[in-house]
Amino acid sequence: MPSSPSELPEEPDRGTSGAVPAALPQNEFARLDSLRRYGILDTPPEQAFDDIAMIASALCDAPIAMVTLVDAERQWFKANRGLGDLRETPRELAFCSHAILEPDRVFEVNDALNDPRFATNPLVLGAPGIRFYAGAPLVAPDGMPLGTVCVVDRRPRQLCERERQGLASLARQAVAQLELRHIVADLTVQSTTDVLTGAWNRRAFDHRLRQEWNRHARAEASVGLLMVDVDRFKAFNDQHGHQAGDQALIEVVRRAQAPLRAIDFLARFGGEELVVILPNTPLVGAAEAAERVRQAVERATWSVQPLTVSIGVAADEPRLDSDPRALIARADRALYEAKARGRNRVCVFERWT
Ligand code: GH3
Ligand code: MG
Ligand code: MG
Repeated sequence: MPSSPSELPEEPDRGTSGAVPAALPQNEFARLDSLRRYGILDTPPEQAFDDIAMIASALCDAPIAMVTLVDAERQWFKANRGLGDLRETPRELAFCSHAILEPDRVFEVNDALNDPRFATNPLVLGAPGIRFYAGAPLVAPDGMPLGTVCVVDRRPRQLCERERQGLASLARQAVAQLELRHIVADLTVQSTTDVLTGAWNRRAFDHRLRQEWNRHARAEASVGLLMVDVDRFKAFNDQHGHQAGDQALIEVVRRAQAPLRAIDFLARFGGEELVVILPNTPLVGAAEAAERVRQAVERATWSVQPLTVSIGVAADEPRLDSDPRALIARADRALYEAKARGRNRVCVFERWT
């Protein structure tokens, strides 16, 4: 008779795997926070990290080398040389979980079978048959150990000082790569979003319009464009101050965004003007979208004073050799009409007069 779960003997030190799990670093929560900020987990392989694993393997003449990151429950391999398609192992099996406990030095296990922490580890007793391990911790600039650059061999051995220092250098290079990616991602967001409203900025709009223009030209589809301008906003600023004006602009963006589709692209064109790209939208559909935006602003509850917008609408079936700025000019012309006819309205571009 199998015993019920409550009668099973407890094994506090060894998990079901037979491995002796490493203690958790004291700063584990902050460490995981730091790791997650890099957004590296579960990303595809990249040459820069593959190269680091390759150099580590060559430097230490080891058949297996990895760039690992120690996540809450697993160690995940950003690069893996010599272990085939293996992308992760449970954390309790990971030698690297031990390595990150001492961020300042290269952690070495000369013969896993003679080390009580690893002698029963299934990665030692079974595939890949680890006997030797050396891991240099990846230490983030905030001091948090994220993972390792490590080498593994199937025979007992030890690193010479030159190899040890080389491994530590590679770990610093891996962190430098992580940092670079992080900074580029940060700068990309910064350079494409408007600081005040969080909407896309003019740079992002120019780029997207060019992309959509070409895409629609190939698909022979119509792209719509809305130019949205807050009515009498100078007076609002004069009366309530620039700070209230800033808050109102944030609100206008939120209201204008609400009735749009996920594929529509709303950007701050400049000042109190917004622009919306409406993919796959003919003039009639664009006018309907504009009316929804106008109403969303008009019907909103405003903390200081009601605001309205005027909207110019244009649409075109682009050609690859035509200029998307012509579409902007048309929407702008229609916006001018909406202002001239009394504001808080939508005007559609028909023809140049
Ligand atoms: P109209 O109905 O003709 O559009 O009148 P308007 O007053 O909105 O147009 P005008 O172009 O004369 O003024 C635009 C105002 O928008 C002036 C400027 O101070 C204000 N503005 C532009 N950008 C910002 C901003 O980032 N914050 C604040 N608070 N105001 C801004
Ligand atoms: Mg205005
Ligand atoms: Mg304006």
